Amino acid sequence: MHQIVDQQKAWFEEGHTRSYAFRKEQLERMKKMLNTFEKPIIDALRFDLNKSEYEAYASEIAFLKSEISHHLKELKTWMKPHKVKAPLTHIGSKNYIYKEPYGTVLVIAPWNYPIQLALAPVIGAIAAGNTVIIKPSELTPTVSWVIKKMIEQYFSPEYIAVVEGDKEVTQELLDSPLDYIFFTGSVPVGKIIMEKASRRLIPVTLELGGKSPTIVHKDANIDLAAKRIVWGKFTNSGQTCIAPDYLFVHHEVKAELIQAMKKYIHEFHGEQPLKSSDYVKIVNGQHFDRISQYLEEGTVLTGGRVDEERQKIEPTILDQVKWADQVMQDEIFGPVLPVLTFDTLDEVIEQVNARPKPLALYYFGEDEKDQEKIIGSIGFGGGCINDTLYHILNPHLPFGGVGESGIGNYHGQSSFDTFTHDKSITKQSTKFDQNFRYPGSELGLKII
Ligand code: NAD
Repeated sequence: MHQIVDQQKAWFEEGHTRSYAFRKEQLERMKKMLNTFEKPIIDALRFDLNKSEYEAYASEIAFLKSEISHHLKELKTWMKPHKVKAPLTHIGSKNYIYKEPYGTVLVIAPWNYPIQLALAPVIGAIAAGNTVIIKPSELTPTVSWVIKKMIEQYFSPEYIAVVEGDKEVTQELLDSPLDYIFFTGSVPVGKIIMEKASRRLIPVTLELGGKSPTIVHKDANIDLAAKRIVWGKFTNSGQTCIAPDYLFVHHEVKAELIQAMKKYIHEFHGEQPLKSSDYVKIVNGQHFDRISQYLEEGTVLTGGRVDEERQKIEPTILDQVKWADQVMQDEIFGPVLPVLTFDTLDEVIEQVNARPKPLALYYFGEDEKDQEKIIGSIGFGGGCINDTLYHILNPHLPFGGVGESGIGNYHGQSSFDTFTHDKSITKQSTKFDQNFRYPGSELGLKII
């Protein structure tokens, strides 16, 4: 592993990754790779997570292709040194921000969108002119294997390499002289990564998780809110970092919302979701047991059944939960949606702000003042008004958390910026000199 890092660093120093032409070619190559490997990717996602072909394509492959297209369209502009203004003290000089790649980047990926989350950061890293080592999740081993095979076929290891394995492997990689670490995963592991990185002062981006609230006020379009919440929560069986974690609904519209949500659960996932061939399974037995235990808390309003053999849990709405319950303490990361009620928005704001800043927040309601109040009073990574998940699909919006939900962001230009050091350069004039800065000199300019 250390050899791979050393090889990549040496290759980077030789300057291969610097030119626009090289970077463009690599992005195009990655697009070609995704086209060639489309079937193995879809098959692997089916095998490891039971993702349907539609979900595999829409949430993983299409997402990456669109991110590559956006990078290809804008890269030349992003790469150019950016001219900036200067104060009077700098008269005669020209001032620029040069865009410098860091060097060798390590991308550590989780299992829930195992292709997208391993490769989306790579797009930014190679656009910015870095070399990359990818460490896919060991919990989706078939996908990990496909990532390794396709990268090996399309890229040389001194440029992009894949290292498979678990936390021991990652820990060993973290002991290398990397130039940047991009981690996507849980909060506890994020802390370990940052601690390790701090020993060598390696800059990090941490894309973490948390409990993302979804708030439904009484002036919301209830039917549409129900539809969009059910879609956002139960896509990938709730194993989405920005999925609505829990619901806060105004008590006057609770019954109507729950009824509409039940309707959409049945519409999207059938009367018997456990029997649906396209319903995503829980990644492993450990997570299955953890999520199943939540079903013993509160009262099940709909769902609640499990299939242990196939590791599937029905889309479930839980009522009568308390903050002290485990389901309200942990990030759920599964198809269970607990419901709390409220009278006033101030109550909601107080309760959300009493906890770590979430990765996402969703607010449903028509009143613009209330919308602004929520946006302005609660700290969270990003989110939607009157929708769920959609903010992540806009390449012009940076994606990332804040506080415990993460450090830094990416997607679109933010990806390029994340993997780029802004190198400040003053190009000074030699036609004259500013005497005032020299000890004992008179004020004024001296013509040379
Ligand atoms: P995880 O933190 O367990 O694992 C992530 C990666 O870290 C894996 O590659 C794993 O091998 C490695 N790892 C695990 N333990 C380690 C250790 N002790 N030392 C070094 N490396 C270690 O996360 P996960 O279970 O794969 O993913 C689920 C979590 O990721 C959830 O919390 C979710 O919210 C979060 N997530 C965040 C985003 C985001 O974009 N913010 C996206 C997806 C998932």
